[in-house]
Amino acid sequence: MKIIKPLDINLNKILGIKEEDVEENKTLTEMLNKIKSAEKIALFTHESPDGDAIGSTIAMYLTLKQIGKEPEMYIPEYSRLFAFLPSSDKIKKSLSEDVYDLAISLDCSDLKRLEGKEYFENANETIVIDHHGTNTMFGDINYVDQVAPACAQVLISILQYFKIEITKDIGTCLLSGIMTDTGGFQYQGVTPETFEFAAELLRKGIDVPDIATKILQTRTKPNFELSKKVVDRIELLANGRIAFSYINSKDEEEAKAEPGDHEGLVDIGRSIEGVEVSIFIRQKDEENSYKVSMRSTNEINVSDICYLFGGGGHPRAAGCLIKGTLEQVKNKIIAETEKAL
Ligand code: AMP
Ligand code: MN
Ligand code: MN
Repeated sequence: MKIIKPLDINLNKILGIKEEDVEENKTLTEMLNKIKSAEKIALFTHESPDGDAIGSTIAMYLTLKQIGKEPEMYIPEYSRLFAFLPSSDKIKKSLSEDVYDLAISLDCSDLKRLEGKEYFENANETIVIDHHGTNTMFGDINYVDQVAPACAQVLISILQYFKIEITKDIGTCLLSGIMTDTGGFQYQGVTPETFEFAAELLRKGIDVPDIATKILQTRTKPNFELSKKVVDRIELLANGRIAFSYINSKDEEEAKAEPGDHEGLVDIGRSIEGVEVSIFIRQKDEENSYKVSMRSTNEINVSDICYLFGGGGHPRAAGCLIKGTLEQVKNKIIAETEKAL
């Protein structure tokens, strides 16, 4: 049997909280009570799950196991790059029950984007844990920290409140979530606690550089093939302040792309000198529909732009789905971006 040792991490110290100052947080007390009284629990996250989505879901799974529960994680498709995460072998592609006592959503801003929304809606009680500014508060209990750089960082304070021991496995999952959403501590939103948590994990013997290599420095071969097309097609618009590129279904077929193989392609445009907004669009399975990914460097709130099309996200990273041909979608999103510049 695998023994998972607690890492003896003083979360209060990391969060800058003195033991005597820990006030009762009604939302978290209620959350813990609901967890304790539930028998059948299922965990959900957003479609096209990234490292924060998967890392947060597994960290919650391991937390619930410590509380004595046997939850199920529902993630039907994800990139094989995340298979290194501990307990990823417990992830299910289909669930065993129709109705759960409790459903918990992690890293998802709205019901529309939730993978397994039918189960979530059917559950007797629901909890939403997230960090999106555009969260619609679709749970019975909503614990949303809009300024946290990752859902995994929101979980740190929840774990602290629940007095959960951070194990090597939980630490690995949380750090993977944080590294994904902060681009390796690079993006705005990282806080001193983000570094302190990483430092503490390093001190406790977690192989932080190894996680960084797996999360940030590794791409699948199909992703590499797709990136060549993205680079080749980049157009610089609005005096070089907008970078636009795309891939269609045929490109993905040719590259033998699997779920998640498009991750990170939007960052290529943003890395070009002078670019403020990078727009990357990707044809969805349904014809005439494109998934838009946007990233900005300094000023433009891309979440506001995506919100106009029914999407959302964060000020520097957002997405939406737009119907139309490549040209139509491109023109629509560029027009709104130019207005914002
Ligand atoms: P992506 O470009 O898909 O990596 O998404 C960037 C950020 O925007 C992530 O935090 C997503 O959760 C969020 N996001 C992407 N698409 C949508 C959407 N259609 N609605 C709301 N949020 C989205
Ligand atoms: Mn995510
Ligand atoms: Mn996230």
